[in-house]
Amino acid sequence: MTARIIDGKAFAAKVRGQVAGQVTRLSEDHGLTPGLAVVLVGEDPASEVYVRNKGKQTVECGMASFEHKLDARTSEAELLALIAQLNADPAVHGILVQLPLPDHLNEDLVINAIAPEKDVDGFHISNVGLLATGQKAMVPCTPLGCLMMLREAHGSLSGLNAVVVGRSNIVGKPMAQLLLRDSCTVTLAHSRTRDIEALCRQADILVAAVGRPQMVTGDWVKPGATVIDVGINRIDAPEKGEGKTRLVGDCHFDSCAEVAGAITPVPGGVGPMTIACLLANTLTACCRANGIAAPEGLTA
Ligand code: NAP
Repeated sequence: MTARIIDGKAFAAKVRGQVAGQVTRLSEDHGLTPGLAVVLVGEDPASEVYVRNKGKQTVECGMASFEHKLDARTSEAELLALIAQLNADPAVHGILVQLPLPDHLNEDLVINAIAPEKDVDGFHISNVGLLATGQKAMVPCTPLGCLMMLREAHGSLSGLNAVVVGRSNIVGKPMAQLLLRDSCTVTLAHSRTRDIEALCRQADILVAAVGRPQMVTGDWVKPGATVIDVGINRIDAPEKGEGKTRLVGDCHFDSCAEVAGAITPVPGGVGPMTIACLLANTLTACCRANGIAAPEGLTA
């Protein structure tokens, strides 16, 4: 079998188009412009690129983008004061603090200082609890993007066996909650899981969020399964020339694609969906803040 490629880049463009359409509607019907504030502390080059992309795509969708770049030595009190100011600002509907933060700042404290209804990353403990109890939450962007692609690939997910490899708070755990909410039978695997290959071979849906390049190979995959590869890993690529590198996922693409029914590539799979879902969450937050029905299909 050769798997169908799930084109995350095209899907993300479609989601951004839907968001832009809804932003126009909000402006015309209600005079509202959704606003997203991104806070970056320090000068991590990867985070800077990511924040720049977020800002660009926010503006392209017709939303307001507020960027706050703070010095790496910013104190916790200064950062908390900025968050309090953004919480109180009616032009800001979504707040995202770029992680990781420098070591002297307590990430849990900072994330939980964001007003839950503006927490477009869905990491605030209130949103984690709302998601776990099946209530209306802000849903973390990466697993939300995976869910959207799975719903499009399968229609209903009800009754399917799903295995999520990785139990992080930002990907694995919320992914498992979302699949459970859509009535999958969910197993959450991790580094202590026994006979993980056999477990994965039972999965109709296999989500890999591990951070280990090409760990999941074709012999882990049930024939016809849908494989969602969340991993983004940079490895050496001597075939491209000395010192060159390339991006790979947590799945070995070629061998998995021979067995799976559908698979996301890296790059061009889950990655582009993450920012698209951040924009969708900002729109949802703006609608909820103003008592307007949030558009269908852009949240869980
Ligand atoms: P993380 O916090 O490092 O968590 C990794 C998880 O994988 C842990 O639960 C760990 O288990 C598990 N694990 C590690 N080695 C394993 C093994 N040999 N067998 C089974 N499980 C193993 O990582 P993360 O933040 O969730 O990110 C995972 C990957 O997704 C990374 O490559 C990251 O770059 C990527 N990512 C992509 C996006 C995107 O937008 N596409 C967004 C976020 C993350 P233990 O808990 O037992 O240690």
